[in-house]
Amino acid sequence: MNFIPYGRQNITEEDIDAVVNVLKSDYLTQGPKVPEFENAIKEHCNVEYVLAMNSATSALHVACLALDVGKGDIVWTTPITFVASANCALYCGATVDFVDIDPRTYNLSIQSLEHKLKAAKEQGKLPKVVIPVHLCGQPCDMERIYQLSKNYGFSVIEDASHAIGGKYKNQPIGNCQYSDITIFSFHPVKIITTAEGGVATTKSEELAQKMELLRSHGITRDSDLMTHEPDGPWYYQQVDLGYNYRMTEMQAALGVSQIKRLSSITKSRHEIANRYNEKLARLAVIVPFQIQESYSGLHLYVIRLKLDKIKPTHLEVFKALRAANIGVNLHYIPVHLQPYYREHFGFKLGDFPQAEQYYREAISLPLYPDLSQEQQDYVVETLKDILAYD
Ligand SMILES: *Cc1c(COP(=O)(O)O)cnc(C)c1O
Repeated sequence: MNFIPYGRQNITEEDIDAVVNVLKSDYLTQGPKVPEFENAIKEHCNVEYVLAMNSATSALHVACLALDVGKGDIVWTTPITFVASANCALYCGATVDFVDIDPRTYNLSIQSLEHKLKAAKEQGKLPKVVIPVHLCGQPCDMERIYQLSKNYGFSVIEDASHAIGGKYKNQPIGNCQYSDITIFSFHPVKIITTAEGGVATTKSEELAQKMELLRSHGITRDSDLMTHEPDGPWYYQQVDLGYNYRMTEMQAALGVSQIKRLSSITKSRHEIANRYNEKLARLAVIVPFQIQESYSGLHLYVIRLKLDKIKPTHLEVFKALRAANIGVNLHYIPVHLQPYYREHFGFKLGDFPQAEQYYREAISLPLYPDLSQEQQDYVVETLKDILAYD
């Protein structure tokens, strides 16, 4: 069997034509494709403002800045996420803390969040921003998080890097009904891709305006945002310290072409996941738990090994799958256990027991639209053989 990765982009001739057409056009950056892509997401998410950037990491950074995260502030997120969900706060000079996960959904636990908020209030150390991550595409309980944000006075950034195409209570993720800003990633392993790329969505004109400035050097050509009358038609002003986080026209054109297939891509991810659910039902693994009231974007299919029911260790199962040319992965190493976080902030083993337990058992199986049934059966049969081995 040829190598089967855990995730892979789906690229059509139409996608290729879309990118080539941009290369033959007048604008490679700052042309019409970025607004077109932003409009397509606006429509899909039913949200007022969308800002495209060169990555979700950039979008997370700019989102924190727009919410005035700075030195002395505290940001909370989940330990089971990609490092970018936490690093964005550090870029702004803030500190990071984590909320342990729910052992069923692997998302940030609402119970732990409530406990931690109570304690933090007494100590005067409430977070300025909380960043829930919709792990594997399954939405967090946003209504509860929103209520807590009102009670305790923090802002909410949804890291929905795994979740475009998903729904929470029948509404598209990204509509920001229960958050200030939502972030999507379009890295090639994610649900749809622009190669590198990400967006921030928001209902707030003020936040959108701030993020728009910050993604492009803090420079404006809008005379309403200037401190004094323009000197002439060539004139722009830098009114804030921003970055170059712009998305290119090639990226945006690929995004426009990809988002047209979003619902069919999500549907095929669900079909593959349902097939895994059936075929893995009798193995010594825990298959993903799906909450009823939402529709997952299904970026990842994560199983947990029932280690007390099998002979091989987690590491042995993982290595045997890789040796069989199956590109399994582990999402994620708990962020608080990363050397940088241990060294700089004193986090240690034992700080977030549910996250650490998850890390000892989790494996992401291949899941992407072009995964054939034959390949999927090979993954299932190989796993079955490995688990039965003693
Ligand atoms: C991929 C990912 C990011 C970062 O996305 P980029 O577009 O690669 O910067 C952030 N958060 C989560 C949860 C991710 O999976």
